[in-house]
Amino acid sequence: MPMNRIQFQPGLSMPEFLKQFGTEAQCEAELQQTRWPQGFVCPDCGHTGHAVFRVGAHPTFQCRACRQQTSLIAGTLFQSTKLPLTVWFLAIYFISQAKTGLSALSLKRLLGISYPTALLIQHKLMQAMVEREAHYTLSGHVQVDDAYLGGELSGGKAGRGSENKIPFVAALSLDEEGHPLRIKLTAVPGFTNKAISDWAKTNLTPGCAVLSDGLACFAAVTEAGCQHQAIIVGGRKPKDLPEFLWLNTILGNLKTSLGGAYHAFGFAKYASRYLGAFAYRFNRRFRLDTLPTRLLVAATTIGPRPGTWLRSAEVSC
Ligand SMILES: [Zn+2]
Repeated sequence: MPMNRIQFQPGLSMPEFLKQFGTEAQCEAELQQTRWPQGFVCPDCGHTGHAVFRVGAHPTFQCRACRQQTSLIAGTLFQSTKLPLTVWFLAIYFISQAKTGLSALSLKRLLGISYPTALLIQHKLMQAMVEREAHYTLSGHVQVDDAYLGGELSGGKAGRGSENKIPFVAALSLDEEGHPLRIKLTAVPGFTNKAISDWAKTNLTPGCAVLSDGLACFAAVTEAGCQHQAIIVGGRKPKDLPEFLWLNTILGNLKTSLGGAYHAFGFAKYASRYLGAFAYRFNRRFRLDTLPTRLLVAATTIGPRPGTWLRSAEVSC
């Protein structure tokens, strides 16, 4: 049973995590290894010869060829941070292990930092998850449905067209036995042919077989080279159709997650970040123990995402 496999997997215990990443030196070593697995490479000229010294809180690498100095945290999500890396690593741990997501308020309490700082850390890490997720497209058998944030998430069609809700496409790929593989939760401007065509070109692999209910716009996935089949059964909604069981279960979990962990502050503006972070965790649900190190890789590779950038980022980031 897939759900039991998720619930009973060992994860990474807090004592084990602290044993590995409890000191600043351990976190620095891990970040350096993650950033330069084969050893330091100058970001400017690609030379590997270097000297290491400390300027401020973190090691700085000076290239022997071009003399450029590169701090360990410069060019990563941690750039310019005043916080110890141990705090960042703990944030990564808490956020990646929390099954239903973690609010900024919880993060503030757990880490002993201010609320604005907790909010910034949360959004930076969610952004790292979103950008990582953007690398993947769904393939094979894919179910899609229209869904909404900011009201009932039951998939009930009463919500269609309602103005104060954020529309998003919920999509799930399934294996040959009908078990869930990956999800994509994507905010869209609305359920128009153009929006679905654009969404499909970005999020689906050409040739995949898409199943939806009778909402007309989903036929536009064919413009992205996908096959499309619609289930139209009288007045029944997808939540009543056995074919959509997994998708509806996941939407139910999403509702619990967002309702329980996230308070509505700025929610509408950042909906795609919350959706992407939920999808990131779901798509790695079988590998809880390696999630913290995977999230560290994501944070190291996406580069700086300062608060001003995070606040101005468009819905589709
Ligand atoms: Zn250089």
